[in-house]
Amino acid sequence: MIRMLRMMITCHWSAKRIQHYLDADPAAPLSSEDIQRLEAHLSQCNKCRALAEEHHRLRSLLDVWARRTLPDKGAVQRVQGFLDDLTVRDPGDLEDR
Ligand SMILES: [Zn+2]
Repeated sequence: MIRMLRMMITCHWSAKRIQHYLDADPAAPLSSEDIQRLEAHLSQCNKCRALAEEHHRLRSLLDVWARRTLPDKGAVQRVQGFLDDLTVRDPGDLEDR
């Protein structure tokens, strides 16, 4: 019972740190002791390892998605040209309307 409770608490502790661990976020770094504790737990706990893998896959998909959603350079130039046409008109054009 105590062992199971200890494992549940460690899982909860780990779940709160897995994202920071995978991101290696310099704004919220994990201490070396936390990293060792987390890695030791991940090596023993299938549930937390699966969570870490899920975070890793999600981050990979978001990276791919972010690269794919960059606008086409030609499309950006066409929009810029269109906006230039609208905004760099002869002021007399507006008075005629
Ligand atoms: Zn766990």
